[in-house]
Amino acid sequence: MTEITGKINLLGLTQPKLEAFFETLGEKPFRAGQVMKWVHHFGVDNFDDMSNISKVLREKLKEHAEIRGPEVVSEDISTDGTRKWVVRVASGSCVETVFIPQNGRGTLCVSSQAGCALDCSFCSTGKQGFNSDLTVAEIIGQVWLANKSFGTVPGSIDRSITNVVMMGMGEPLLNFDNVVDAMNLMMHDLGYGISKRKVTLSTSGVVPMIEKLGTVTDVALALSLHAPNDALRDQLVPLNKKYPLSVLLAACNNYIAGLGERRYLTIEYTLLKDVNDSPEQALELIELLRETPCKINLIPFNPFPHSGYERPSNNAIRRFQDLLHQAGYNVTVRTPRGEDIDAACGQLVGQVMDRTRRSERYIAVRQLGDEPVVAAPPNSRR
Ligand code: SAH
Ligand code: SF4
Repeated sequence: MTEITGKINLLGLTQPKLEAFFETLGEKPFRAGQVMKWVHHFGVDNFDDMSNISKVLREKLKEHAEIRGPEVVSEDISTDGTRKWVVRVASGSCVETVFIPQNGRGTLCVSSQAGCALDCSFCSTGKQGFNSDLTVAEIIGQVWLANKSFGTVPGSIDRSITNVVMMGMGEPLLNFDNVVDAMNLMMHDLGYGISKRKVTLSTSGVVPMIEKLGTVTDVALALSLHAPNDALRDQLVPLNKKYPLSVLLAACNNYIAGLGERRYLTIEYTLLKDVNDSPEQALELIELLRETPCKINLIPFNPFPHSGYERPSNNAIRRFQDLLHQAGYNVTVRTPRGEDIDAACGQLVGQVMDRTRRSERYIAVRQLGDEPVVAAPPNSRR
């Protein structure tokens, strides 16, 4: 469990908030820029490494502040190059961060909440229920630790991470303020310098928050649609009963219109065998999206135990894709990545609890010294 120190964690402060912090210490605001560079560009978490900051100020900083990255429980690298980190957050839960290298791009999939309250029927995160909102430091900390793991080039941020998608665990729009601050740090020159077109927020459709998002940022937006009509979407995404398709698509269209020329909504559509993958449903989807400038990303369902759903056959996936394609859409099919380390979309939580327990057991065994003790259930005989 992350220790609570009462010190302010500078990792999670945007430039204006860091400037305000320095002012409370009676220091000049420009210190904020210096510290941000150390933290985000160099990956430094120790004030003593900040060589352009006086010793006196460093001591003052140590007294009031800290730079605390997330606690890494495990790090796995898949045979396809995908990396997955399991990190523990202050609430004691674990969330996952996944790095996917593909065609010269490096996409980091970041979590915004531990668990999720929205309970989409095919999502293992939803099955866990909601546990906690991540703090800004816990969200940006995922970028920070991934960036550090690539070996930061002194003086400049590593460019391995070219894109960030808020598509890990949780519904980002239900942790609005923290997600917006963290995305601002991702895009800031003194943060990670990622372009606004390459930071994508994915939502299951929290309409009032989509409207609010348009007033504070211009990141790319992805909508988890999954169904071509309200009757089916009500079953798959229960939030649809509150914000049905007509109001949802109107809010998304508005958001995209506010971004200006040549910006598109990304439609995510998880393909579930015999549920939403028929040719009729593809045609209905085309009709539904007539007014929406969008690209479509089909995500073949990634199975997890007791989900009750199956992945469609490759033929069914291709048939669905072809119909959309023929209607003029730019359609991609997301290939599952990192399956050997359970890093694929929607598989992020089911295994986390096991993994966490495994690693707790490992730590417990290590603390017992060299004795090769295998943790046994409490009531079993040794
Ligand atoms: N809560 C946000 C972002 C996280 S989910 C949202 O719903 O958009 C990221 C994407 O993974 C969503 O499109 C989600 O529907 C999809 N997903 C969830 N479970 C899945 C599964 N088992 N297989 C394939 N995609 C899944
Ligand atoms: Fe939550 Fe997204 Fe999963 Fe739905 S798909 S339960 S909104 S994380």
